[in-house]
Amino acid sequence: MENTATDNAASSGSGRRADAPVRCAWCGREVVQSGAGRRRRYCGQSCRQRAYEQRQALAGTSVPADALILSSAAAEELTDRLFEVRCAAEDVAAAVSDGEDADSVSALCEELVGLARRAEAIRSRAGD
Ligand SMILES: [Zn+2]
Repeated sequence: MENTATDNAASSGSGRRADAPVRCAWCGREVVQSGAGRRRRYCGQSCRQRAYEQRQALAGTSVPADALILSSAAAEELTDRLFEVRCAAEDVAAAVSDGEDADSVSALCEELVGLARRAEAIRSRAGD
C-alpha cells in the first residue's frame, strides 16, 4: 500500500520526511539500507520469503499480491496498539495543556514514541 511510491513521496515532501526510514514491505519494521545499490524492501530473508509465499498463494486469485492479510487476532492486536498510541498522545496533550514541566512531557513523549514503534510492526505477531 504505502510502498509503491516511497521514493517519490520522500522527495516531494508530501507529508513524509526526506529521511523517513523504509519500512519492511512485510512486517513494517524499519529496513536498514546497506549504502549503495537497490533499496531493500524487506528487513530480512524470512520476510522476503513470506512475501514470496503469499504472492504464490494468491496467484490466480482476485486478491492483490501485495495485499496486507492479517489474522483477526493480529488485526485486533494492531487495533489495541493504535488505541494505546492514541491514549498516550492524549496524555501528552493533557500534560502540555496542564502546563507540566518539560521533563514530564518529554517522558510522556518517549512512551508515545515507544508505543508507536510497537504499532508499526504490523505483522510482528502474525509472522514470527
Ligand atoms: Zn520484515
